[in-house]
Amino acid sequence: LRLDLATHPTTPLSELSSVVLLAGVGVQMDRLRRASDFLILPGFIDFIADEVDLTSALTRKITLKTPLISSPMDTVTEADMAIAMALMGGIGFIHHNCTPEFQANEVRKVKKFEQGFITDPVVLSPSHTVGDVLEAKMRHGFSGIPITETGTMGSKLVGIVTSRDIDFLAEKDHTTLLSEVMTPRIELVVAPAGVTLKEANEILQRSKKGKLPIVNDRDELVAIIARTDLKKNRDYPLASKDSHKQLLCGAAVGTREDDKYRLDLLTQAGVDVIVLDSSQGNSVYQIAMVHYIKQKYPHLQVIGGNVVTAAQAKNLIDAGVDGLRVGMGCGSICITQEVMACGRPQGTAVYKVAEYARRFGVPIIADGGIQTVGHVVKALALGASTVMMGSLLAATTEAPGEYFFSDGVRLKKYRGMGSLDAMEKSSSSQKRYFSEGDKVKIAQGVSGSIQDKGSIQKFVPYLIAGIQHGCQDIGARSLSVLRSMMYSGELKFEKRTMSAQIEGGVHGLHSYEKRLY
Ligand code: IMP
Repeated sequence: LRLDLATHPTTPLSELSSVVLLAGVGVQMDRLRRASDFLILPGFIDFIADEVDLTSALTRKITLKTPLISSPMDTVTEADMAIAMALMGGIGFIHHNCTPEFQANEVRKVKKFEQGFITDPVVLSPSHTVGDVLEAKMRHGFSGIPITETGTMGSKLVGIVTSRDIDFLAEKDHTTLLSEVMTPRIELVVAPAGVTLKEANEILQRSKKGKLPIVNDRDELVAIIARTDLKKNRDYPLASKDSHKQLLCGAAVGTREDDKYRLDLLTQAGVDVIVLDSSQGNSVYQIAMVHYIKQKYPHLQVIGGNVVTAAQAKNLIDAGVDGLRVGMGCGSICITQEVMACGRPQGTAVYKVAEYARRFGVPIIADGGIQTVGHVVKALALGASTVMMGSLLAATTEAPGEYFFSDGVRLKKYRGMGSLDAMEKSSSSQKRYFSEGDKVKIAQGVSGSIQDKGSIQKFVPYLIAGIQHGCQDIGARSLSVLRSMMYSGELKFEKRTMSAQIEGGVHGLHSYEKRLY
């Protein structure tokens, strides 16, 4: 890689033959600084940060109000993450390291999501016991369990069991059937299916109850709303929605014959956009899959990848992709560059592919290596329309998996989809790395853990505000202005020497606490 930036310290990016990059591994701050090889020079500010418009294209036909995407990894995106990302204006891609049925069901949960309405609560039947309620309470931390004939959603509502019904029972009563202790249907306040959240909240408030079951005209339970959620039911003005006002949802598939069945289930569940999940997307398999999808489901948006060169991008654009995922070897859990000797520094990859793909109106996703909000701004300034994150969103409340403790620290697992750990779980992950059926599996990722980060409901607003502030300093009122400033040469980049990187970080303190939001 020629370090042209070294000889042209203040040069418009478009005039450089190469750009050095963002990548970087590890989470320690000293390493992180070393990874930050360039900075963007500030521009002129004549607007407030809040006004910066982050609207950006995910694909040819899908536009998001927030340029943030959660990666299709089994420790990052299932329905909870995809719902939260879409509510805040981004989108989540459900991973495929699972059965097609499981994945389609996660997509369905996102598409069916109605704010405040819980559509998959714990439900029991009259023949369950008080002991079952206590166990559910211990596991999920709530009481107020609806009772239906069969103990499942969609069956006739026959009662509800709350703490008041069971609190004073002695231990010997734990085998008592719920039919004997529940508050029967006749005494319940319910709301009809189709009720708006506002109306349902009003009924709940008037009834002074903890839970409000929602039933259809056959008196079958379709959802509940909970008093404890009343305060949480805030507005999400940026939410990513389709024309039926349902949240947008993406999903990953591979490029093998059996992925066609998976694709059918996903489309039946209402998926809006598919990402073809491969670490090296420039293959006959992917091109054939793009043709197949475009022919069978012409309206389904298809993102190809991953690519890091214009030549790779060309083949997928020619095949008809609606977006491209860019990155090879820059992910936090990734050892692809080390093992395969292939890849590209992420800054260069994003710039080169975006510069090519824009001529065909194909937006690109900068995927992997995003460790800070500054990295997001840099990726967008290099031409990406959106960024995809794994580690930044892992270990949040919405990420799949249970928390566990190690040395007193609360952690969640985070692993590469090409780690042996993930590949052993299912063959989908092996397909991403062309390892399916191989006698010797070549790991391209590692498996590790990340400290509890709390909910993305707090973290994503921080990212959004951070990007807006970055754009404000640059003098860009919107992401499209940011990109056009870069292509016109107005945006100036400057190489950061090692000592400049040290200067740009916290230094000279005996100790400090780094709280970001
Ligand atoms: P992160 O945001 O830096 O953690 O990177 C996440 C990205 O790494 C994902 O979106 C994938 O593109 C990529 N990735 C996921 N699993 C692996 C792996 O096992 N090896 C290499 N790259 C991976």
